This record gives sequence, C-alpha cells and structure tokens, in this order.
Amino acid sequence: RAKTLGKACYQVFDTAMHQHAQTQLRLETDLRRAIERQEFLVNYQPIISLTTLEITGFEALVRWHHPQRGLVSPGQFIPIAEETSLIVPIGLWVLKESCQQLVTWQQMLGGETVPTLKMSVNLSVKQFSQPDLIDRIDQFLEQMELQGHLLTLEITESALMDNPEAASQVLTALRDRNIQLAIDDFGTGYSSLSYLHRFPVDILKVDRSFINRIEDQDNGLRIVEATLAMAHSLGMQVVAEGVETQAQALQLQQLGCEYAQGYLFSKPLAAETAAGVLAQPPAFSDLLSRR
Ligand code: C2E
Ligand code: MG
Ligand code: MG
Ligand code: MG
Repeated sequence: RAKTLGKACYQVFDTAMHQHAQTQLRLETDLRRAIERQEFLVNYQPIISLTTLEITGFEALVRWHHPQRGLVSPGQFIPIAEETSLIVPIGLWVLKESCQQLVTWQQMLGGETVPTLKMSVNLSVKQFSQPDLIDRIDQFLEQMELQGHLLTLEITESALMDNPEAASQVLTALRDRNIQLAIDDFGTGYSSLSYLHRFPVDILKVDRSFINRIEDQDNGLRIVEATLAMAHSLGMQVVAEGVETQAQALQLQQLGCEYAQGYLFSKPLAAETAAGVLAQPPAFSDLLSRR
C-alpha cells in the first residue's frame, strides 16, 4: 500500500516539476524576444534623505510586461535571465534607460542649479563579470553627458565574494569615474563588514528583513544599530530598505541612518508618475512628525 501511495505522490510531484520546467522554458523563450519587442520598462522608487526628508534619488527597478502573462515580477524572471545570461543585455538596457531618464529629470528640474538627483541601478553577478562592462558604462556616461557621481551601482555581497580579484578591478575602475558603489540586501549574504572594507564601498543598503525587525527592542534594533555604527566607522552611508512604518522611519532617523526607501514613502513608480512627484514633492515631513 505504502508503495502505491509513494508512487502516486511521486507522479504528482513529477507532474508539478514538469509543469514548472515547461513554464521556465517558455519564459526563457519569451525572454529572448522581450528586448527587441520592447516589453521591458523601468519603475523608479524614491530614496529619501532622513535628514532633509527630500528625495535624493531613485532606484531603477525593471519590469517585464509579458504580452499574455501581464506583468512578470523580477523575482520570477531575473533568475532565468541570470542563468541564460540574458541579464547582460537586459541590464544594459535598464542602465541606459534609467540614465537617460535621470538626465531628462535633471533638465526638468532646471539646468541652472547643480544637479544632485541620483540614479541607483542594480547590477547582476553576471554583468559584473563582463569584461566590457566599464566600456559600456563609459559610453553611456559620455553619450548622455552624465557625471559619474550621479550614478550608483548596486551589487550584492555574493557578487563581490564570488570573484574578489575581478571585483576589485571593476570597483577600482568605478571609483576612478566617481561612480558610487552600494552593497544591496546587506546582511543576507555571508560577508563581514571588515571584509567589505577592502572594497571601495560607498553605501550599504540594509536588507528589509532587518528593518522589519527594528521594533523588536532586543535583537532587531541592536543588529541595525551595530550595522550602522560599523558602516559609519568605515566611512559608508546607509540606506534602509523596505521601510513600511512611521515607527521604523523614526527609529532609523534617531539612529542616524542617512537614507530610507520603502512603501511608507513610495512604491516604485512609473516614469511619468515619478516625474510628477519630482515636480511637486510630497511633504514627507508629515510622515515623520511625532504626534
Ligand atoms: P532590490 O534591488 O533589493 O530592490 C528592492 C525590492 O524591494 C524591489 O522589488 C522593491 O519593489 C521592493 N520594495 C521596496 N520597498 C518595499 C517595502 O517597503 N516593502 C516591501 N515588501 N518591498 C519593498 P522588485 O522591484 O520586485 O525587485 C526585486 C529584485 O529584483 C531587486 O531587489 C533586485 O535584486 C532585482 N532587480 C530589479 N530590477 C533589476 C535590474 O534592473 N537588474 C538586476 N540585475 N536586478 C534587478
Ligand atoms: Mg537594489
Ligand atoms: Mg535591495
Ligand atoms: Mg532587498
């Protein structure tokens, strides 16, 4: 009896696996055509200074508008894009698109003032190990007459740790161009801050899972506190990811965290919506006033 049950279970499992594999395969085929069919778009999530409560920049987040499936989340297609290396052309497209957007917004905000609005773009491990990455970035910056210091590249800890030698070279090249480097999802990898210090890291983005637990007075709070202290002593600035509540934001402000990003302030926005927000900035100070 157990044997038949086992077999039935196996078949159910097998069918599910098979369906999953087929879906992945179909997505992969579709992904290959998605660039030329212009199915990607970029959403922009504001990054807010906890000191001035102004928008200091945006993070570019790619979206795939699939003709049949509708919006496919990056969580679903980025892993496939990584595996197939399609992330390389997709990532370059995102980089170009978001840099162009930044230049447009700088012009909209008035060319007279010193441009300070920044753009933060995610780089995948695969992209990071492309030998022509720096050449492409140089091309974009030159074409768009964009200053390097207005661009931040976000990479995960594992991108650094997988190949520290290659990483070191790329990072030096980025530093030469004044491009900022941010470590994304900090705390979810296995690196230590002291190891990170060997690389020219400017910004630490503390993962949402830690910000979530900041109201836990014992562990949660202490971990964020310790991370901030170490980051600051190593000369890095800190962005808190996934800030969803006023209590979290107030706590982070009190701890001296420089920047915050999260649904409390804004979800990722379509480009036109983000432009509207820039033209008429919301009063984020209302969100943080103690009552
Ligand atoms: P990430 O770089 O850590 O981006 C932050 C993610 O958290 C985004 O998810 C954003 O929508 C979400 N988020 C922001 N604030 C909140 C909040 O308050 N609460 C919650 N629950 N979530 C929040 P998204 O856009 O789905 O992107 C997921 C991941 O996909 C990104 O994580 C990044 O690793 C990757 N990704 C997105 N765009 C690109 C890209 O252009 N290139 C590469 N290589 N990866 C990308
Ligand atoms: Mg990111
Ligand atoms: Mg992140
Ligand atoms: Mg994250």
